[in-house]
Amino acid sequence: MKADLILARGRIRTLGRSGLAVHTHLAIAGNLVVAVGGAEVMRLRGPRTPVVELGAGAVLPGFNDAHAHVVYYGLTRFGADLSGTRSVAQIVERMRAHAKTLAPDEWQQGIGFSAKELVEDRPPHRLELDEATGRRPAFIDERGGHARVANSAALEAAGITDMTKDPPGGRIGRDRDLTPNGLLLEAAMRMVADVQPPQPISRRIQGILKTQRLLLSRGITSVGAAVNRGFADDLGAYERLAEQGRLKIRVNEFLSWELLQAASGLGVRAGFGGALLRAGPIKVFVDGGAERVAMRSGRATWRTSPAELRELVATASRAGLQVAAHAIGDGAIAAMCDAVEAAGVPGLRHRVEHCTICPPDLQRRLARLGMVAVMQPMAARFAQEPSSPFGAHDRWNLAAHGQLIKAGVPVAFSSDLPVMSDPNPWLGIRAAVEDRINGINEFAALRAYTSAGAYSSFEEDVKGTLDPGMLADLQIYDTDPLVTPRAAWDRLRPRAVLVGGETVFGSLD
Ligand SMILES: [Zn+2]
Repeated sequence: MKADLILARGRIRTLGRSGLAVHTHLAIAGNLVVAVGGAEVMRLRGPRTPVVELGAGAVLPGFNDAHAHVVYYGLTRFGADLSGTRSVAQIVERMRAHAKTLAPDEWQQGIGFSAKELVEDRPPHRLELDEATGRRPAFIDERGGHARVANSAALEAAGITDMTKDPPGGRIGRDRDLTPNGLLLEAAMRMVADVQPPQPISRRIQGILKTQRLLLSRGITSVGAAVNRGFADDLGAYERLAEQGRLKIRVNEFLSWELLQAASGLGVRAGFGGALLRAGPIKVFVDGGAERVAMRSGRATWRTSPAELRELVATASRAGLQVAAHAIGDGAIAAMCDAVEAAGVPGLRHRVEHCTICPPDLQRRLARLGMVAVMQPMAARFAQEPSSPFGAHDRWNLAAHGQLIKAGVPVAFSSDLPVMSDPNPWLGIRAAVEDRINGINEFAALRAYTSAGAYSSFEEDVKGTLDPGMLADLQIYDTDPLVTPRAAWDRLRPRAVLVGGETVFGSLD
C-alpha cells in the first residue's frame, strides 16, 4: 500500500494510544490515517505521494464541538447583529439600519445582545423595538438563547394579549397593568417563532454553509448540531448538502423531542447514519437558562416536568434512541438520572447537556448509569464573574470537569454556539486548564474536545484520535499550540484542516 499524503518532520500528537507523545510523520491513504511514527513512515511514499514538510508545524486531531446550534447560528447571520450593543438606543439603531436590507413583507430578527450589558440593565420594551421596526413583525434574541423580545406586530401575529396565559415552561413578560411588554422567556419564545413564516430550505442551506465555514476555520471537524425545536427540514438541508458534496464537516444532528414519535416510527436508533451525517440524540429541555434552572435547594424552573421527562426517556429508550437533556441545575440533572434509571435500558449513553451544577452524588450516578456530560468549559470562567447567577457555595460543584472525569463520567466539550460567539475550542480548553477549583490538565481538556465528543455519538472507534485506522480528520498549526503561551490560545487558528484526508480549510503549503 502507498500513501496518498504524508505529513513529514513535524510535531504530531495522536491524543490516542500514545497520548501527548510527539511523532514526526503521519501517512494518509484514502480517508484514513494509515501510519504514525518516525522517518520509517516514509516507506509508504509512492511515486506520486505528496509529502508536506511541516517544519515547525504541529498536527492534532480535528476538534469535535459536541453541542453547537449550526442552523440557528447560520440563520442569525441574516438577522441584525446586536453583539456589543451597550444601550437600547444602539439596538434600535442597528435594527433600523438592518431593516433596509429586507423585503417589505419579511420578518426581522436580531441576535447577540445581553440585557446585563445594556446601561439600562434590562431588555428593550416592545414599544422601543417598534420605533425601529414599525409594523413589520420582529423579534430579537439574547445571546444565551433563553430570552426574546418581540415587537407589537409579532405579538399581534402570535395572538398574545393581556388575556394570554404563560405557556408551560415559559413566561410572558408584562407591564404593571399586565399588558405584554414583548419579553418572552424560555418556552414562550416559540409563540412568535411558530407564526413566523418558515425560512425556506435554501436559506437554511446558506446558513449551514456560513456556520460550517466558521467551525472549520477553528479546527472543528465534527459538530453535534443542537436544535431547540423540531425542524425536520434541517436534516433535509444537511442531506442535500451531503449529496452535492458540499457538506465538509461531520454532523451529528439532534432531533427535537417533537420528532420522537416520528423517529422511533422510522426505526431511527442511536448512531443512525454514516460518518458524515447521522441522526443524533433526542433533545429535551429539563430546565431553562442561567437564571431559570432547577436546583434541589428549592429554586426550580422546569421546562419539562420530572414526570414528563420520565415518560419521554422511557419511550426513547424503548426505541433505542439516545436522549440529550438540557440540565443546568442539580435538580434537573437528578431528574434526568431518575428518568434514565427508571427506563432501565443500558448502553444508550444518554447525555446531560451543560451539566453545570453537579455535586458528587450526581457525579457517581451519572457514571453508574453510563451517561455522558456534554459541557461548555467556558462556564468555569463565567462562574467567576460577579454577575454570575450561581452563588459562591455552588462553585465547588460548578463546571466540575475534574471531579466528573475522576468519577468515570465521559466529559465532552462544546461551545454552544452562539452562546459563545466564537467557537474557538482553545478558549474553553484554556478556561478548563486554568480553573483553580475543578481544573483538568491539557491532555484531558484536548480529549474532551476530540475523542469524548466521538464517544458521545458512538463513534470513538472511527474518529477522535490519529491512531492508524482512524478517519484522517486533523488540523495543522504553524507552531505547536502546546508550547505556545496560553494567553495566545485565544487567537490560535489552524493553517489547514483535513476531513477524511481532504483539505477543507486553508492550504497544505
Ligand atoms: Zn444549546
